[in-house]
Amino acid sequence: MTDRIIRFLRDRRPSTPCVVVDLDRVEENYRALAGALPNSRIFYAVKANPGAPVLKRLADLGSCFDTASVPEIEMALAAGATPDRISFGNTIKKQGDIARAYQLGVRLYAYDSVEELEKIAASAPGSKVFCRILTDGAGAEWPLSRKFGCVPEMAQDLLVKAADFGLQPVGVSFHVGSQQCNVEAWDGALAQAAAIFRHCEANGIELSLVNLGGGFPTRYRNGVPTAEIYGRAIDASLKRHFGNHMPDTIIEPGRGMVGDAGIIESEVVLVARKSYDADERPWVYLDVGKFGGLAETMDESIRYQISTPHDGGEDQPVIIAGPTCDSADVLYEKNVYRLPTALKAGDRVRILSTGAYTTSYSAVNFNGFAPLAAHYI
Ligand SMILES: *Cc1c(COP(=O)(O)O)cnc(C)c1O
Repeated sequence: MTDRIIRFLRDRRPSTPCVVVDLDRVEENYRALAGALPNSRIFYAVKANPGAPVLKRLADLGSCFDTASVPEIEMALAAGATPDRISFGNTIKKQGDIARAYQLGVRLYAYDSVEELEKIAASAPGSKVFCRILTDGAGAEWPLSRKFGCVPEMAQDLLVKAADFGLQPVGVSFHVGSQQCNVEAWDGALAQAAAIFRHCEANGIELSLVNLGGGFPTRYRNGVPTAEIYGRAIDASLKRHFGNHMPDTIIEPGRGMVGDAGIIESEVVLVARKSYDADERPWVYLDVGKFGGLAETMDESIRYQISTPHDGGEDQPVIIAGPTCDSADVLYEKNVYRLPTALKAGDRVRILSTGAYTTSYSAVNFNGFAPLAAHYI
């Protein structure tokens, strides 16, 4: 929790629910990641928090941007990034969107299939391309496996093929899964990347780039290793697998850049029991839920820390839910959360480390609830 956010909430008392994002913390995170991996260029994953002030601060710091759609490309450009600092990193792109990205000057594209390669060759001729390989996402709390990437044997063929299509094959990408708490998770993918580099070299293709993806965690209820520890582990793996032929590298942090820079303030709508059974947990309903920005509570994957005005007093196990008329809108039931017994309707609670994957996930009008309001300070 940053002092600036606490002061803002105290002095302004903004209406709830809202998220307050501290841009200085974003900057600190940028500098920590840049310091931890000094040889890597940073491509901020825009989807984590596409707020214009976040993009502007990062653009001013020299960050590049990983985008997944034409509007994200336009937002990065509006923030001041030049097209050479933008990658179109989604492996699933419409033909027309590739053409538009090319028109906007973007020359770096991701792919993981020959069908996508054909689209890129047709609408973004001569561009640089990198091929994404599958990972299993083990150790991640929000895995990004299966849907993206192809097996290494396919990736090496696809990179050779890219040159046949008149594109510039530059390297390999992967994502080890979001909120990746195992600092060694990059090692296996880097071994595969190095093998692909060797195969391509034997086929006359000189690759130069490894895109290490995101995965850098944010502190929720439990502590996480520092950026520096991730940097050391990744650097050791790079040396182990690439030896004296170190590739250029880029990282695409999303959560690790903005997660702990934001706090959601929410009002308690109702605290109630459903029976006279004293062993049954009371329900605590907040004015923010799965549809108001807390989508990552799906399957209770991301377990946010919640602070209340009564912390330190007697507490009890509770079930926590959002305000909408949808029974999917339950935040935590399987995981035991304890909240103060004194908590009551009208109290304001804070959901910590909610700067990533909240505003961008918020529904536009479900049950008439407005999208999550955001204050960037
Ligand atoms: C979402 C995404 C990221 C960001 O991941 P984090 O775990 O939030 O750092 C990076 N790269 C790609 C391709 C992504 O889709």
